[in-house]
Amino acid sequence: MSTKNKSALFQKLPSTDELLRQPNIQELIERDGHAPVAESIRAVVARLREEIANGHIAGVELSEKSVDLAVGGLFDAIERELRRSLSSSLRLVINATGVILHTNLGRAPLAETALDHVREVANGYSNLEFDLETGERGKRDVHVDRLFRKLLSDSLVSSETLATKSLASITNAPPSRSTIVVNNNAAAVLLALNSLAEGGEVIVSRGELVEIGGSFRVPDVMQKSNALLREVGTTNRTRIGDYERAITDRTRLLLRVHRSNFEITGFTEQPSLEELVALARRRNIPLMEDLGSGALFDLRSVGISGEPGVIDSLRAGVDIVTYSGDKLLGGPQAGLISGRADLVARMRSNSLFRALRVDKLTYAALEATLLAYVKRDHDAVPVLRMVRLSKDQIAHRAEALVSKVESSVGAGRPSRLKLELCDGESVLGGGAAPSAVLPTRLIALSHGELSADRLNAHLRTSTPPIVARVEDARVLLDLRTVFPDQDDVLAGAIVSLC
Ligand SMILES: *Cc1c(COP(=O)(O)O)cnc(C)c1O
Repeated sequence: MSTKNKSALFQKLPSTDELLRQPNIQELIERDGHAPVAESIRAVVARLREEIANGHIAGVELSEKSVDLAVGGLFDAIERELRRSLSSSLRLVINATGVILHTNLGRAPLAETALDHVREVANGYSNLEFDLETGERGKRDVHVDRLFRKLLSDSLVSSETLATKSLASITNAPPSRSTIVVNNNAAAVLLALNSLAEGGEVIVSRGELVEIGGSFRVPDVMQKSNALLREVGTTNRTRIGDYERAITDRTRLLLRVHRSNFEITGFTEQPSLEELVALARRRNIPLMEDLGSGALFDLRSVGISGEPGVIDSLRAGVDIVTYSGDKLLGGPQAGLISGRADLVARMRSNSLFRALRVDKLTYAALEATLLAYVKRDHDAVPVLRMVRLSKDQIAHRAEALVSKVESSVGAGRPSRLKLELCDGESVLGGGAAPSAVLPTRLIALSHGELSADRLNAHLRTSTPPIVARVEDARVLLDLRTVFPDQDDVLAGAIVSLC
């Protein structure tokens, strides 16, 4: 289109002043105020100008007619823009991706009991740092430390004494363990390294110098903690002797890092945790493990092996473990440091701890989540519920959803949308190994006229928005990560695609 014709199209756009004088816009101003309405008008008109300049309006080729259509729809567009600008940008979405711990979708959804407890505690004042018995100042970490002690120490003590009834295990009682909470696991690693190894060396295998989630890089965190990284072994093979030879009088810590979203397979070797523990004990150097996800329940019960659990590591004799609160634990964003009480005490007294501490909302959500574990009420924690869903349970819901869609579309009406059920895999996500998958049943959508990407984009405009994945030109919906009470909304959104 020529520049001259384009400028004729630009002239069709009303000015902000003209729009502001329109009676229906006046009503919006009365309700929401002049400034936000004027701002919405400017945003919508600017967008339309840009579209004209680019030669397309809402994906349609530019013409006099398409501009007239857009001008006719200006009021609706302005109202939509206004509503969006005056509502939260952070919103609930339906996660139909089947990725249980989706970092972009906020990782673990909170348990109802956690939400209730947050509301109760934050709706007024609380005893966050107040000892109700003595009436004196208390510590915020006592609220969750007591629960971690229960969850970690009880099971450890009983299993240790049961497993080895030797005199040594009775006289060498397991060391007292405690837990502190910081902002996230990255902060936990930073605090632990700084507290235990500042100015000294930390030995890490080259196979574990990983980057997780784009911004957590082991060497970078090490540098910020003022500890010196001492790399040993090679990318694929590191032996216990490599660690041993690297130990000097500057060594402060042995560190193992869970590789998380990255796997090394084939010609590989890594010392067992037991070997590392034995070396650490012999040389009297603490051993720390960055677990990443750090499950507090046994993943083997759902057929996933190789993901380290917090209890497994402590039981094996690791001195300090760090893990996230919002990964497999299923709680709020937090970084947890559990292990030998004397080492944790050094972290607590580090001034960095004050800078990395968490607020009462996090403590409240974490406390309620841990209580669900203490009560063995695992289904109260959404992440655990999702992990434990069987393929049959998911298939059952998927079939019900498809028949619901089919019956509301009506048998007689032809639809270009095709719904199929197929087998697939859900993934743990959140830094669990890529091979940590669970069998599932998927709903696959395809459309005679719309591409899978267009279908997917349509689903994202639903209320609440639906996030799915696209594979082989189909939109795949995995109900494992959809809350059962969202199935109807999902069905409705699919019907609207028909
Ligand atoms: C996820 C992960 C982290 C980062 O944890 P955040 O809670 O996101 O800060 C660090 N280390 C490992 C091994 C991880 O898997």
